[in-house]
Amino acid sequence: MSEDTGGRPCPRCEQPMYRRHCKYVCPRHGVVYDCSDTFY
Ligand SMILES: [Zn+2]
Repeated sequence: MSEDTGGRPCPRCEQPMYRRHCKYVCPRHGVVYDCSDTFY
């Protein structure tokens, strides 16, 4: 796996999120952002 935390914390719990394809995934909350969000 080439997951990388990307240095972006979850806005809810501040755990480092994984970036997977075009999604940011929190280990607690699941997908927090995806590429349809302006965030990306
Ligand atoms: Zn979270």
